[in-house]
Amino acid sequence: MIPEEAIARIKAENSPVEVALSHNLELKKKGTRWLGRCPFHTEKTPSFNVYADYAHCYSCGWNGDSIKLEAGLSDLSFPKACLKLGATESETAEDVAERLKRIEERRQRQEQAEAERRGENKAKRARWPQFFLGLHCKGPDCEEIGDLKTLARLRGIHYAGPWLTEQVYGTLRFLIWKGHTAWVVGDRTAAAARRLDGKLWEHGTPHKSDTLPGSEKHPIGLTKGSLPVILIEGEPDYLATLARLWQKGQHEQWQVVCMLGAGARLGRHAAKLRDREVVIYAHGEEAGRAAADRWKDEATFAGAKSVTVCDLPDGQDINDLTEKEIAA
Ligand SMILES: [Zn+2]
Repeated sequence: MIPEEAIARIKAENSPVEVALSHNLELKKKGTRWLGRCPFHTEKTPSFNVYADYAHCYSCGWNGDSIKLEAGLSDLSFPKACLKLGATESETAEDVAERLKRIEERRQRQEQAEAERRGENKAKRARWPQFFLGLHCKGPDCEEIGDLKTLARLRGIHYAGPWLTEQVYGTLRFLIWKGHTAWVVGDRTAAAARRLDGKLWEHGTPHKSDTLPGSEKHPIGLTKGSLPVILIEGEPDYLATLARLWQKGQHEQWQVVCMLGAGARLGRHAAKLRDREVVIYAHGEEAGRAAADRWKDEATFAGAKSVTVCDLPDGQDINDLTEKEIAA
């Protein structure tokens, strides 16, 4: 006879997932549950779901906790399955209480470690500069300047930029960074900041574009997926290309990727272009055409399905193209 206390303890100590994995069941994690092919009937499509305290097959209806699962998988009686999972017939309530206490302490330690990790991430995000919300820049450098459109014009950012800010949250922002009014273009993971006065940042090796803290210098907008990709050079090109697609209602059919300058390489990110169509819009000048050739080689080597370079007329970039198309 297995005491009730022992049953409670082995359930706490052996989750259904641990039992299933100890029997080499092939399971894949799906959020908080695990999914695999049911061990109690024959199936091709997995319908056996393992949760924190029970398992259920949505096809044959099998349902049970970790002890029933052990019994089923080992073909044992209930008491024998309990013994296999570590229960003893002589266990007292005190023994069990002591062991349950240790399990609870372990769980709390894990929770604490998790909370610390979350806190670190929050602190990392807090290091991002404060964005100015709304359409008005309140920075000391732009007291006389009205709204984003004026700011945009100052730096030759296509008027589509401010328009996009309203459409695609977070694409373009104006802020004060390192003591200068800056404009920022970003996606959810990467963001580049440039000074509004057009000068270079004053540190180390100055670049026109600079990434914000918490952000890595890598192409903006490049995520894995299967959408065809439009590769462009700089941040104004990024805004202009997004605007162009939005105007045509094609923003969900393409992924626009900003390389943060003609000198950039795809490097390890090239792998994300595998099996995808790639269209490159090069600036109509020497540096742009050289960049396009380099990216074409990298994308081709990475296994892109096709790579097309659109050579623009001398002195033109995709801003000009967008402007013309929107005006037409
Ligand atoms: Zn089943």
